[in-house]
Amino acid sequence: MKKSIIVIIFYSILTCMHTVSAKDTKQSADKLFDSYKERFVLALWKVNPSWASSVGYHKYDNKLVIPNDKSRMRELAFCKANLDSLKNFKLSELSDVNMTDYYLIENQLKYSEWGIKEQKAYEWDPSGYNVCGSFADMLSNDYAPLDKRLHNFYLRMAAIPAYYKAAKQNIKNPTKEHTALAIEQNLGGISVFEQDLADALKKSHLDEKEKIKITARAKESVEAIKGYVTRLKVMENKNPRSFRLGKELYDKKFAYEIQSGYSADEIYQKALKHKQELHEEMYELTKELWPKYFNPGTMPRKKLDAIRQMIDELSENHVKADSFQSAIEQQLPALIAFIKNKDLIYIDPSKPLVVRKEPAYMAGVAGASISSPGPYDKNGNTYYNVGSLASWDKKKAESYLREYNHYILQILNIHEAIPGHYTQLVYSNRSPSIIKAILGNNAMIEGWAVYTERMMLENGYGGDRGVNSTEASPEMWLMYYKWNLRSTCNTILDYSVHTKNMSKEDAMDLLVNEAFQQQTEAEGKWKRVSVTQVQLDCYFTGYTEIYDFRQELKNKMGGNFNLKQFHEKFLSYGSAPVNYIKELMLKEMK
Ligand code: ZN
Ligand code: ZN
Repeated sequence: MKKSIIVIIFYSILTCMHTVSAKDTKQSADKLFDSYKERFVLALWKVNPSWASSVGYHKYDNKLVIPNDKSRMRELAFCKANLDSLKNFKLSELSDVNMTDYYLIENQLKYSEWGIKEQKAYEWDPSGYNVCGSFADMLSNDYAPLDKRLHNFYLRMAAIPAYYKAAKQNIKNPTKEHTALAIEQNLGGISVFEQDLADALKKSHLDEKEKIKITARAKESVEAIKGYVTRLKVMENKNPRSFRLGKELYDKKFAYEIQSGYSADEIYQKALKHKQELHEEMYELTKELWPKYFNPGTMPRKKLDAIRQMIDELSENHVKADSFQSAIEQQLPALIAFIKNKDLIYIDPSKPLVVRKEPAYMAGVAGASISSPGPYDKNGNTYYNVGSLASWDKKKAESYLREYNHYILQILNIHEAIPGHYTQLVYSNRSPSIIKAILGNNAMIEGWAVYTERMMLENGYGGDRGVNSTEASPEMWLMYYKWNLRSTCNTILDYSVHTKNMSKEDAMDLLVNEAFQQQTEAEGKWKRVSVTQVQLDCYFTGYTEIYDFRQELKNKMGGNFNLKQFHEKFLSYGSAPVNYIKELMLKEMK
């Protein structure tokens, strides 16, 4: 018998025992908080116009904040004023949704303050200065008539020279790694003001005079970008800051960004343990598969050597470089069909996912990613950005394709697209809380994507009977464990590099020898960990929290547990920290 969580919640609301007066207080406190949230969000966009545009709020499309002292003071004043405003509300008088929104707003404000006062990335991270992304969005996202978007593009460009002038003044002793990234990404983004803009102007209905004006200003913008790049290239930097964040800043950043019930160190310890467990599982599968692929008796004695040899064999099952993108496109309908057939979660067919070549300004960090239209752009396209292998040399491409082989490519699509990031984002945009839609928690977002990989395999995806598969093949499981090892080692790597001074050599040893990654992948990860901090922890942390919570609920509900309802209910809260979602779901169940 199916008994939905939703039905249970309904009962709990109907039988709710609040006294009338307590309910009234709650309602009026919530009403006040709702209108506060509206004011907060509008003010937030005024202070952060580019962020506003990126989530689809286009009122300030013509504005670009000059990153100088004045704007930092303005942001601090904004934080202080809103932290004061929050004090007017009693948490106990707020609804669950508003209570978590309160926490998210408070966390965001404190994180901003900490960023300006303590982390001070604006002094040492030159890659924080890059206007190209927000301008690219104005050309590629069809949220308003092209002529109007071009007009705002023109107005926003006016501040670009001052923007880069301030950037030059801010930079003190940048890290070498962030300097190199800034050069690469800013140069990569110039095409937005040249080719992309020229193409858009051709399609527009603006008159010649206006087109000339826009083109002239774009030229000045390109000069400003190039000037910044040149400055970074020639600037003297005798004592560059280390890209390693250090334990003190790291622990704080982990707390603000991950918002987990665990500390950074606790998660690190859990990851170390999980790595051992995965190695055991993988060894069992390797023993099982060995006779199918190799002569019995040729299995290496060392566990990790045997696993590696099996993975190497299975990795040869991969697509050709020129069909990488089409292979991804073809898999998406298969995933949807499987999910429907197994009744795992509702997939909204009216929100299409467009696969596209990764735009140049994104190059350099990840291989595939999702760009979502955000809470104000509900009808905008969701893009699946796929890095192109066209310009890669043969050896590098082969290494990449072996990494994203037949098995892993499917898991990547589960993670990035369906029912991973893409599906979660569709639900998040439906969430009634704009706060959760815009201040989304990364550990929940990544944790969900990582969770769905395992969930799909548990339900039989990757077996030999297509949509009717009841059991994933041992090959699929082995490769999945290898992939999961990646999230796990992301955490070990990030924590070790930023707080324990892990060398590149040791990092490569961890990734290549213990996580079985190809050289290209491991090099890419090293590059990523040297220009980001804490971000790599969110995968394993979120996954662990979601998976453990699901198992806890299953135990509690027994036969009444319904996987589809669990998924839809879990996502309905939007991108809140898992900790809070868990608290709310448990409370509603009672
Ligand atoms: Zn090959
Ligand atoms: Zn992800």
